[in-house]
Amino acid sequence: MSTPEIHVLPTSLRNQIAAGEVVERPSSVVKELVENSIDAGSTQVDVVVERGGQGFIAVKDNGHGVAADQLKLAVTRHATSKISNVDDLAAITSFGFRGEALPSIASVSRFKMSSCRKGADEGWFIHVEGGDVADEGPAAIPSGTSVEVRDLFFNVPARLKFLKTENTEARRCNQVLFKVALANVGAGFSFTSNGREQFRLPAGQTLPERLAVFWPRNICESLLEFSHEAGDMKVHGCAGIPGLAQGRGDRIVMFVNGRPVQDKLLLSAIRGAYKGRLISREYPQAVLFLELPPELVDVNVHPAKMEVRFQEESSVFSIIRNGIGQALSRYELGIVEGDSHFERQSEMPVRPVLREKKLSESVSLPIEPAAKFSSWNEFKNTDFTAMDDEPEAAASFVKTDFTSSMAEHRPEPDMVHERPMDYTAQEVQAAEQNQHEPFAAGPVFVPGSRIEYLGQVVDTYLVLKLPNGSLGLLDQHAAHERVIYENMKSLRTRGESRPLALPIDIALHPSEVQRVQEMWEDLQAAGFMLELESGQTLSMRGIPPGLETGEAREYLKAAVDGQAKTLDDLWIMLSCKSAIKANLSLAVDEALSLLEAWVKCPQREYCPHGRPVLVSWSALEMEKLFKRK
Ligand code: ADP
Ligand code: MG
Repeated sequence: MSTPEIHVLPTSLRNQIAAGEVVERPSSVVKELVENSIDAGSTQVDVVVERGGQGFIAVKDNGHGVAADQLKLAVTRHATSKISNVDDLAAITSFGFRGEALPSIASVSRFKMSSCRKGADEGWFIHVEGGDVADEGPAAIPSGTSVEVRDLFFNVPARLKFLKTENTEARRCNQVLFKVALANVGAGFSFTSNGREQFRLPAGQTLPERLAVFWPRNICESLLEFSHEAGDMKVHGCAGIPGLAQGRGDRIVMFVNGRPVQDKLLLSAIRGAYKGRLISREYPQAVLFLELPPELVDVNVHPAKMEVRFQEESSVFSIIRNGIGQALSRYELGIVEGDSHFERQSEMPVRPVLREKKLSESVSLPIEPAAKFSSWNEFKNTDFTAMDDEPEAAASFVKTDFTSSMAEHRPEPDMVHERPMDYTAQEVQAAEQNQHEPFAAGPVFVPGSRIEYLGQVVDTYLVLKLPNGSLGLLDQHAAHERVIYENMKSLRTRGESRPLALPIDIALHPSEVQRVQEMWEDLQAAGFMLELESGQTLSMRGIPPGLETGEAREYLKAAVDGQAKTLDDLWIMLSCKSAIKANLSLAVDEALSLLEAWVKCPQREYCPHGRPVLVSWSALEMEKLFKRK
């Protein structure tokens, strides 16, 4: 075989590759364009979408505009007006800085940008089609910028497949704008979809006024405002009262220095503030703004900048938990500030924490800590699977992260109950009252099934009342193996791959090379993007989207060293490895989320090795056991 020649990719292809990361769906386009408008100092931003944004997206603003001779640069990759040197990168104050959004969008759509700088006589437009400049010229436009994106992904049909229905995509665009609008109350926004104006927010509204446009009145009226400072960090925002908690986490919105993020650390800290105040599957409403010096947070870790990295994670965790926790304590103790709706609330029982609550099946539930993590240490010792951008997924990851969070990394008991110095005596007492007692209260239905969870015995078996009335004992390890195994299998059927920013190299022994080659196709089908370099080094460039990088590497090692001969072997082995072990006490919410996942599995009666997961006794069998029959 001749050595392949190395060549530099053409610009349009490079932009399309970048677009793969930045422009995932129409709402990503809306996000990038609107953020550009805010960066340009706009006080009015109007967004129009058609057919969920796939047909048409327009964002018009009254910002400072782009000079005619610079429009071409604006759609050139790595061209930005926002940073110039590496010091700027360390202290970013704008939304944008990568100079990638416009060229990426323009490479996968029919793109037109018109702009007029303040005070200029005339505007200018540029028309880019699939990455190539098709036309440009003078434009009659008031000062500001207008970007129109037509036929998104017309030249990358593979992307279209991943889009959801037009309604769903439109809703995502709406949500993106909603979030930007919450963080920029000084500017006015409007959103129109398929010719219908869905909202119009005048400039200068307060945060509660803005929220009232989107959230139900009873929630908005009882939101508690909080503001808390520690060192050079500050948190502020609104948090819902525990009594109005909801079953989904879709009303939790988080910002870091004005940038909307989906960050598991922040989410855990919010949940931590409600620990002991909510039952396991309830979520509060919260709008959280965290402000900190830009050099303490790295926003350049995710192409769409949804994730951030903090230098002082534990301080971030504490300030949020304390900021919201203190507002809740004040409310519960009846210390109320100001207006009438607070007074009304203070008539509610102010005794904190313990509160019976009806669940869907009108079964009363043992009061469980709402949050998995009440302390920083607990959070830190936990490894997570990725969060995606579904709002519901964002908040429910806490209950679906079994695979990695519980197996190896379960914190030591003294860490779980570790109390930071700033817990009040009352909070400590509340936490103690709330410690888990498996059989303390009545049964709980497993979500989505008619199985009742009764409790855990010998830290290994979950006791169930099955829909036909039988008594069931479920082996938690075996059940979790089945759940993980099925997850892995479904990953394969989708065959998608998540590219790694930095490929991971694994050196191979000559005997291992052949094994890898035998499993090559299987591994590709599972979502591994691999390359065998110089015959000895296996380079992992992409991994199945549901796996952490570390897990993926473990997988691959197992295949390489012959522990697994087929992909199925690999999964069985790895599901066993990462499943929760026996002799591990599970909180009710943990047991429930395991059961919830397990009831959905095919062949759930057996673990992948073929051992039983569930043993049960019918009424008759029980009678026999007691020699009644
Ligand atoms: P970035 O925002 O990372 O700089 P973009 O590709 O999003 O990269 O935009 C490139 C440049 O185009 C920006 O740096 C900015 O100078 C200019 N620009 C984009 N959108 C607007 C806008 N709405 N108003 C004014 N300037 C804009
Ligand atoms: Mg930008």
